[in-house]
Amino acid sequence: MTILSDAPEINIVSFIRKFTILRKAGRYFRGKCPFRVGEELGETLIVDRKNNRFHCKSCGEKGDMVDFAMKIYGIERERAIKILNDGGIAPTERFMKRFNLKLT
Ligand SMILES: [Zn+2]
Repeated sequence: MTILSDAPEINIVSFIRKFTILRKAGRYFRGKCPFRVGEELGETLIVDRKNNRFHCKSCGEKGDMVDFAMKIYGIERERAIKILNDGGIAPTERFMKRFNLKLT
């Protein structure tokens, strides 16, 4: 199943921006790692919008939007794909807990 081209409403920069602040730096975007909430590691996350890839120089996480969604939500690939096709936000229990969020 291929989805990225089927999900024109979302790109990797807008998706990752739901979880961390990204600023443009040359042809990439940089930001703090959303996988290490609370740790001050600087802007170790590099996002390549053109190729739809991300890479963190601190924790080593990398991949595409599906990989990012799987990791940030702690879910399986198929569910991540569905969530991305639905717009990218999934109030999974683990995710809400991690960011101290409450369902409204
Ligand atoms: Zn990281």
